[in-house]
Amino acid sequence: MLKGRSAVITGGVRGIGFGIAVEFAKQGADLLLCYRSNDEAAEKAAKELAQYGTKVLTAKGDVCDEAFAESAVKQAAEEFGQVDILVNNAGITNDKLILRMSKDDFTKVIDTNLVGAFNFTKYAAVHMSRKKSGRIINLSSVSGVRGNAGQANYSASKAGIIGLTLSNAKELGRRNITVNAIAPGFIDTEMTMALSEKQREAALGQISMGRYGSVQDVAKLAAFLASDDASYITGQVIGVDGGIIM
Ligand code: NDP
Repeated sequence: MLKGRSAVITGGVRGIGFGIAVEFAKQGADLLLCYRSNDEAAEKAAKELAQYGTKVLTAKGDVCDEAFAESAVKQAAEEFGQVDILVNNAGITNDKLILRMSKDDFTKVIDTNLVGAFNFTKYAAVHMSRKKSGRIINLSSVSGVRGNAGQANYSASKAGIIGLTLSNAKELGRRNITVNAIAPGFIDTEMTMALSEKQREAALGQISMGRYGSVQDVAKLAAFLASDDASYITGQVIGVDGGIIM
């Protein structure tokens, strides 16, 4: 249970981030959900989460912007009294073969997926260190573990997330802060709906479980990692991939 805990979830108003928000709210956590531009999704998310009776705030901004990360974390700390859990979930893809990938295509994905996670970790870790307690959960990907054709930018960002996770786990362990990464395979969200039917079918053929993952599959693991039951688990990269990695 996460009763009395507070969480900041980047990209928390739809997709996997919203799935995690629902699971955390069901377990009693107060939430600050960050998003980039989708006001409609943010309003809908806040409305849906109200049924669980915890405090839910939304903050609009770009995770690439360090000042936004600082103010969002500060807002959560002021409103909830503490930031117990950070989920670095916001992410984008911009798939292209390397021969066609511009430097801008590359750096934009790195900035959002990796620098964004750095920005939020930096400010959340200050609050967690003071309290000598915290949970940081980073969204990596199967692509970050084994690479993927057409995703040099995305795979590099998600491999970078693993490095960030391991280094931060080593630095913050003595402050009783755990840092772990989740590496999902193919999860049914708007991100994967954007792929062609052919690409979706090819992915399905590689999944031993014979189905795409759901946001709940990822959310259940995030809630476990955020809980007291996971207090001795840190520096891990845990797959939620239905066997696609094998
Ligand atoms: P979605 O595209 O469904 O949602 C992404 C969320 O991130 C949105 O809420 C979006 O905000 C937010 N976001 C994107 N860029 C920024 C930014 N610059 N600043 C602030 N917020 C931003 O993605 P998924 O739910 O599918 O993915 C969530 C995470 O899981 C990502 O890190 C992704 O890489 C990872 N992942 C997903 C997999 C999958 O199969 N779906 C597989 C492996 C990893 P807004 O709503 O305003 O657009």
